[in-house]
Amino acid sequence: MRPEALLHPTPAGLFCPIGRFHVDPVRPVERALITHGHSDHARSGHGKVLATRQTLDIMRIRYGDDFCGSEQAVEFGERVDVNGVTVCFHPAGHVLGSAQILIQKDGLRINVSGDYKRGTDPTCASFEPVACDVFITEATFGLPVFHHPDPKGEIGKLLTSLKQFPERSHLIGAYALGKAQRVIRLIRDCGYHEPIFIHGALARLCDYYREQGIDLGEIRPATLEKKDPGAFKGAVVVGPPSAFQDRWARRFNEPLIAFASGWMMVRQRAKQGGVELPLVISDHCDWPELLSTIREIEPSEVWVTHGREEALVRWCELQGIPARPLHLVGYEDEGD
Ligand SMILES: [Zn+2]
Repeated sequence: MRPEALLHPTPAGLFCPIGRFHVDPVRPVERALITHGHSDHARSGHGKVLATRQTLDIMRIRYGDDFCGSEQAVEFGERVDVNGVTVCFHPAGHVLGSAQILIQKDGLRINVSGDYKRGTDPTCASFEPVACDVFITEATFGLPVFHHPDPKGEIGKLLTSLKQFPERSHLIGAYALGKAQRVIRLIRDCGYHEPIFIHGALARLCDYYREQGIDLGEIRPATLEKKDPGAFKGAVVVGPPSAFQDRWARRFNEPLIAFASGWMMVRQRAKQGGVELPLVISDHCDWPELLSTIREIEPSEVWVTHGREEALVRWCELQGIPARPLHLVGYEDEGD
């Protein structure tokens, strides 16, 4: 069987005609397999949804009880038959519950890795290399200029700044699912044990991570009821990046704006966003991780879904691995 007969791109996303399902569809479909809870991959309104328990829980938190017609939870490593096609979820190391989806039929194995990273992250299960014929990868940071530093070194910059500017409220922009919890956990691992304040938009997901056994230390809501700007002097406040553009941020004491994102490698982006303290912390692979993953898995073919596809495709070809860009649209890497 040609791989395209088992899985191919459509406007709604990757589609398996034999199994009659889509993977991470960007439009409502009859049956969806979802890699992880970021809003560009996990949308509401599908008929049936197959995903890990954690991804289903996260979708419920974000979209409400009626986020799909019916749901089915799958364990990592469990083989599920979908209309004669075998699917199996493996950890992707991206955010809590994130999975790669291995699709098998008649000896042909296609692995949709979703979003993934290789670096250590105590807030989710680590990426597992899965043998396959076709490896489908993203390329969010698919250019040789992208090298993500050690995240603890980045948190070190934050802790140094707190010492240098003990009066200023340190506001850290971090996406609500995954990045925010990882940043809080990293701050704890670097020895900071004061209460950390969070924007209301992060509350339910932080609660969920804690329910799942991820210790975030003492977390308090960053509410300014008394309108006392002195209340958060020298405090660490984590919120979604969007919150820092509005009045919410201006209520803090001499706010120092930090932003935790892989994009903070690009100086221009930090400048444009008014970020004083860029923290290069990514939940995606950097360029060396993309290459080492492909070398490790040794697939016979690579398909690149979105991001900077061309450079990665070219690199694969130079290694003698057939590769092609899928040019999937609708994936805006919410998580980075
Ligand atoms: Zn993601």
